[in-house]
Amino acid sequence: MRTDTIAAIATAMSSSGIGIIRISGDEAVGIVDRIFSMKNGKKLSDMPTHTIHYGHIKDVDEVIDEVMVVLMRGPKSYTREDTVEIDCHGGVYVMKRILETVIKYGARPAEPGEFTKRAFLNGRIDLSQAESVIDIINAKSEKEVKTSINQLEGNLSKKIKQIKQQILDVMVNVEVSIDYPEYDTPDATENEILNMLNNVEKELLKLENSFDNGKLIKEGIKTAIIGKPNAGKSSLLNAILDEDRAIVTNIEGTTRDTIEEFVNINGIPLNLIDTAGIRNTTNEVEQIGVKKSKKIAQDADLIIAIFDATKDLSKEDMEILDIIKDKKIIIVLNKIDLPCKIDENNEYLKSITNNIVKISALNNIGIEEIYNKITKMFNLNEINLDNEIVITNLRHKNLIHKAMENVEKAKQSLNENMPSDIVAIFIKDILESLGEITGEEVTENIINEIFSRFCLGK
Ligand code: GDP
Repeated sequence: MRTDTIAAIATAMSSSGIGIIRISGDEAVGIVDRIFSMKNGKKLSDMPTHTIHYGHIKDVDEVIDEVMVVLMRGPKSYTREDTVEIDCHGGVYVMKRILETVIKYGARPAEPGEFTKRAFLNGRIDLSQAESVIDIINAKSEKEVKTSINQLEGNLSKKIKQIKQQILDVMVNVEVSIDYPEYDTPDATENEILNMLNNVEKELLKLENSFDNGKLIKEGIKTAIIGKPNAGKSSLLNAILDEDRAIVTNIEGTTRDTIEEFVNINGIPLNLIDTAGIRNTTNEVEQIGVKKSKKIAQDADLIIAIFDATKDLSKEDMEILDIIKDKKIIIVLNKIDLPCKIDENNEYLKSITNNIVKISALNNIGIEEIYNKITKMFNLNEINLDNEIVITNLRHKNLIHKAMENVEKAKQSLNENMPSDIVAIFIKDILESLGEITGEEVTENIINEIFSRFCLGK
């Protein structure tokens, strides 16, 4: 099948040392032949694949730039098609001018992600591998790159294929029992299916659970510190950051702006949000804002609720605790250097969580214990990226979840002795969801959606 030839500027659209114009498709070499004048007088199309050539890009007689041209014939190229890359000077004007010339001679402008899309459509990589390319480009930390490279290498795809194979091996028997009921040995087959489903469920659950780590690696733990004015929020933040960035004051309500900071716990970013800004600005100090606490609680992965231990719990304190009690929460009792009215044995606090830490933010006492709790709550010690497949992509996680729902339905229909073709329908749905991860079963719309998130030239 012949494909049209696409071209794009693959490097950033700003002045830089070099720029790269990427061209891919059946006409890639032919087009460049017409605009590339090689120093040695030869034609690019006569050159062997995977070679680099020096010369000038010209539009008829006008010299546009002095360039190096990289020739990669398919299928040994990123897209598996004939590909030419023009290394030119990295000026915005010159890059645009070369791209225009390439288009003038027969290429069309590539859409965002179209090179990677072709790599996928031509079977060089599957969909989950293609998606990891965006993640690598956008990665902000070493751990994130590591998980994305792991995915690009196809480890997730391999796992998914393995699971599918397990299902298919057993499905053969189901089809047999549908087509030839007289040969049916129901118990044996049913047990086999049930065993398979239990195994599949275990493996999918492991993948689904890895998403929490994946999200942590990608986004950090969004941590909100909430508490009434003067409880010691800013002081705690300072103790954690070990520097005076937040304003510490004993005048209630001075720090109105929300302050966000990142600290690292075992290589996982903790995104700390100081919610001083949620205070009511009219100085009605008790109005910490139950509603606002609710909003913050919704968004956060972790809530550190800090209380001034020298004061009794107020009704509002309890109201706020009540709202957030279903989240991951650490209750911090501050100012233990002073005579205290509440401690970790407080019945109400104990009913909310066992994670109660006593600190003195001012004296840097107990901060380490907060770290220990966080490490335990998020199993940070157990995030070992070397051998683990970590799901970082929400699309994958949702499909795994959907597959698990159908595992459950299949198991249920087996238990209820439903006909095997009903069971088979659920099992086919599992296969379909898994196939969507690797892209075997995916619709064109989803493919377009995914690749539109890429940058131009990739
Ligand atoms: P925020 O309004 O919740 O941010 O509270 P701040 O961090 O501004 O602290 C309010 C007041 O309590 C300040 O005067 C702090 O110095 C004081 N404070 C904070 N932590 C401690 C502590 O551990 N012990 C004592 N004695 N005072 C503290």
